[in-house]
Amino acid sequence: MAEVKVKKRFVAGAKCPKCKALDSIVLFKLNGVETVECIECDYSEQQADEQVAKQATGDVIGVFKP
Ligand SMILES: [Zn+2]
Repeated sequence: MAEVKVKKRFVAGAKCPKCKALDSIVLFKLNGVETVECIECDYSEQQADEQVAKQATGDVIGVFKP
């Protein structure tokens, strides 16, 4: 029996944008997609790697050379 184990970790100091609970946000990867979820309410959001990369650099990614 293959049980899918997802490592969830709390995001320190994170505040839920929905219920405003503090330290209730967990971060985990679901099928390779970064997902944040609130344990206090049903808030959840998935971030595609592309979006994460854009947020990290703040720039539009240029020509990709293999
Ligand atoms: Zn919440």
